Amino acid sequence: MKGLNLSDIYETLALYIEGEFVESDGRRTEEVRNPATGEVLAHLPHASRADLDRALSAAERAFVSWSKSSPLDRSRILRKVAELARERASEIGRNITRDQGKPLSEAIAEVLSCAEHAEWHAEECRRIYGRVIPPRQPNVRQIVVREPVGVCAAFTPWNFPFNQALRKMVAALGSGCTLILKGPEDSPSAVVALARLFHDAGLPPGCLNIVWGVPSEISDYLIRSPSVRKVSFTGSVGVGKQLASLAGAHMKRGTWELGGHSPVLVFDDADVDTAATMLARFKVRNAGQVCVSPSRFFVQSKVYDRFAARFTETLASIKVGNGLDSGVEMGPLAHARRVVEMEAFVDDALARGGKIATGGARLGHTGHFFAPTVVTDLPADARLLTNEPFGPIAPLLRFSDPQEAIARANALPFGLSSYVFTESLKTATYASGALEAGMVNINHFGSALAETPFGGVKDSGVGSEGGTESFDGYLVIKYITHC
Ligand code: NAD
Repeated sequence: MKGLNLSDIYETLALYIEGEFVESDGRRTEEVRNPATGEVLAHLPHASRADLDRALSAAERAFVSWSKSSPLDRSRILRKVAELARERASEIGRNITRDQGKPLSEAIAEVLSCAEHAEWHAEECRRIYGRVIPPRQPNVRQIVVREPVGVCAAFTPWNFPFNQALRKMVAALGSGCTLILKGPEDSPSAVVALARLFHDAGLPPGCLNIVWGVPSEISDYLIRSPSVRKVSFTGSVGVGKQLASLAGAHMKRGTWELGGHSPVLVFDDADVDTAATMLARFKVRNAGQVCVSPSRFFVQSKVYDRFAARFTETLASIKVGNGLDSGVEMGPLAHARRVVEMEAFVDDALARGGKIATGGARLGHTGHFFAPTVVTDLPADARLLTNEPFGPIAPLLRFSDPQEAIARANALPFGLSSYVFTESLKTATYASGALEAGMVNINHFGSALAETPFGGVKDSGVGSEGGTESFDGYLVIKYITHC
C-alpha cells in the first residue's frame, strides 16, 4: 500500500500452535482496545478446546526431540531471538504502547532489555551441569543429572507483556522444556510478536504454543492435563494461590511470581533530595503497575518534611498523556478496572482521615488516566497500606525508631521487593538482614537484570526468574548409580 508506514500497523493477532499462526476463522474473539483513546485496535481469537488439545499434543511430541537437543542448538535459537528483538524493538514497542499504554520509550526499553535476557539464557543454558558424588566403594559411580521437566504451562500478565512472557520462554526452552503460554488478553501484541521472533529464529514446531481465551478456563484445562508437568504464573496473589492449589492437587511443579507492597525506608542520614526525586520517578514507571513498585514510603522524622515536599513536587510535575506523544512521562492505566481501583483507594483514604498532597482523581474523560497521587496521614489499616495499589498512588508515613519501621514494613503478608536509603553501612546491613523480602535495593534500583534472580517470599511467591536460578524451576534431578 502506497505511503503506508510499516511500523504503524498493529500486530495481526493469532494463536500460535505447532508452528502455525492461527487466526480467528469463526472462533470466539474479544476486542482489544487502546487504553489512551478507547479505540478498538483488533480482535483477539480465543482458543477452542480442540486448539488446546492440539497445543498439548504438539508440545508433548516436540518435547521428545527438543529435550534431547544440544544446548548449542538451543543457544543458537535464543541468540537469534535476541538479535531479532533488537531489530524489531521500535515496531513491537509501538504496539505495546497502543494496547498497554506505557510511554513509547519504556515499551522499547522493555523489548531491548529482553534481548539481553534471551542472550544471557543462550549463554547460561550451555552450563546446565550435573555432579559426581564420591562413592563408598571404588567400583561404584554416583552421578546426578538435571533433566528438563517436560511440557510447561505458563500464564503471563499485561503490565510487562513482552518481558514477563519472554522470561518464561527463555528459561523453559533453554532448559529443554516445551511450552504452552497464555498471555494477557488485554495487551496481546507483545506475545504474538514473541511467537514471530521464535518462529523466525527457527524454533521447531510445537516447542512454543500461544493460546488466548477466558483465563480461568484455559488455566483450569491446562493445569489438569496429564501432559503438563510444570506451571508458571505471574499475576496477583489471589489468582496465584488458586492456581497453586490446583497445581498441588495434581502434583505439578510451580513457579509463582505474585504481587507485592514494597516498603521504602528513608533514614535520617540519606541523601534525601536524591532519594525523593529518584523514588518519585520510579513510582510512575508504567503508571505504578509494577509488582516491585515502591508502595509504602516510611520516612524518618527529621527528614520527613523535606522528603515529602520534594517527592510531591516531582510527582505533581509528571507529564501524563498518550504514551505515543513525545515528552509524556506516564501513560494511562492499562484498563478501566484499574481506575476504579485507584478511586476506591482514595475514597477509603479520605474516609479514614487521610490527606491528598497531590492528585487524587482521574484525568479527562477519554482513556484511563489517573493523576500521580500522594496520600499522607493514613492509619495503619487503610486500604492503601494493606492492599497492593498497582497504580500511581503513594502513601507517605513517618517513623522515628528503625526497628519500628522494619516491623511495620514486615507486617504485611507480601515479601517481594524493598528499598532502603541511607548513607550508613551499619543501617544498610541491619535493614537488608531484617527485611522480609526476596529483593533489597539500597540507594539505587538494581533488580530484574538478566543475571540476577527475581522473586519473592511469603505471599509474593515461590521460585526465581533470572540469574543462574532461572533454570531450576524447569529441571528435575535424576540420580544414577552403577558399578
Ligand atoms: P487479575 O488477578 O484478574 O489478573 C492478573 C493477571 O492474571 C492477568 O494477566 C489475568 O489474565 C491473569 N489471570 C487472572 N485469572 C487467571 C486465571 N484463573 N488463570 C490464569 N490467569 C489468570 O487482576 P488484574 O485486574 O488483571 O490486575 C490487577 C492485579 O493483578 C494487581 O492488583 C496486581 O496484584 C496483579 N498483577 C500482578 C502482576 C505481577 O507482575 N506480579 C502483574 C499483573 C497484575
